[in-house]
Amino acid sequence: MPHPETWLKVLPNGLYCEPGGFYVDPLRPVDRAVITHGHADHARPGHRAVLATADTLAVMRARLGEGNAGHTQQALGWHEPIGLGDVKAWLSPAGHVLGSAQVAMEYRGSRVVVSGDYKRTADPTCAGFEPVPCDVFVTEATFALPVFVHPPPAQEIRRLLDSVALFPNRTHVVGCYALGKCQRLIALLRQAGWDRPIWLHGALSAMCALYQQRGIDLGDLRPATVAAKASLIGAIVLAPPGAIADRWARRLEDPVVALASGWMRVRQRAKSRGVELPLVISDHADWNELNATLDDVAAPEVWVTHGREEALIHAAAQRGIRGRALRLLGYGDEDDGEPAHGDTTQGDTTQGDTTQGERHDEAAGLHLPG
Ligand SMILES: [Zn+2]
Ligand SMILES: [Zn+2]
Repeated sequence: MPHPETWLKVLPNGLYCEPGGFYVDPLRPVDRAVITHGHADHARPGHRAVLATADTLAVMRARLGEGNAGHTQQALGWHEPIGLGDVKAWLSPAGHVLGSAQVAMEYRGSRVVVSGDYKRTADPTCAGFEPVPCDVFVTEATFALPVFVHPPPAQEIRRLLDSVALFPNRTHVVGCYALGKCQRLIALLRQAGWDRPIWLHGALSAMCALYQQRGIDLGDLRPATVAAKASLIGAIVLAPPGAIADRWARRLEDPVVALASGWMRVRQRAKSRGVELPLVISDHADWNELNATLDDVAAPEVWVTHGREEALIHAAAQRGIRGRALRLLGYGDEDDGEPAHGDTTQGDTTQGDTTQGERHDEAAGLHLPG
């Protein structure tokens, strides 16, 4: 049987399945694209035919506009096989954001799974990651260093609510990305019993409305405006990361600035961004989740798309798994990862984060255990 290297190739446009005639999350407009999820670095505009989950297609239409979200769109349900050329493909949940999928593909007896971005921690706003046993597992490595161990999200939400209780005369402003993190925070707050209105910066409202249309209950959401400043005392306001330190946030009543991101594990990063209350909540697998996933999918070979390739490949090698760095440039999430360099394809205002480029220096300066 042909080795996947001979039929799944890294081309300038991205990862190309040759016998299937399609790309997965291509970096430039192509004829046929299978899209794992709606983040800007994975779901780019201008493809001819787009195959994805119905939720991801809805996200793409909302963010890119009908005209840019694919000339034709085809929705695929979970585990529903489809023949693409000589390849059988299907989608399994990735647990990252609403609609996020892993792409499984089989060709002449071998199976590759492209996981896209994923996490293993339960998320009330999307279907949970399902390990798919395979011959080659293609993974991200955003947080692939032993220092990155995310605490339980409920614990971080509790820290936020404790702070709200401690400072009833201040307004808590929590920075979070528009797709995924924002809605997950809201759902986690609801699970923790916070049933008061949650206030949204304007840049977050469209995606929340879409989640609600897709059946995710987020409770009472209201627009946060400076005019409503008085009613925001003691309240929780969500805003894009780029807005938490600017004039908009400062005009709120004595704001407590929080930011929800896996990078908040790096104290220096929170400090440099003026974050008083760092919340370590990530939609990406941490070091333990990445390693557990390698065990769960039991693939003899792992290909790493982006992030901390070396560390994950080293850990894989110690368990007899062959590793390969794909060095796919252009990924790096708008959520938690490094924004794609020069990515101007996103029309909304949710990508105001310009400090992400420090990532390499910061993590290099971390003191790693062991
Ligand atoms: Zn993503
Ligand atoms: Zn990504």
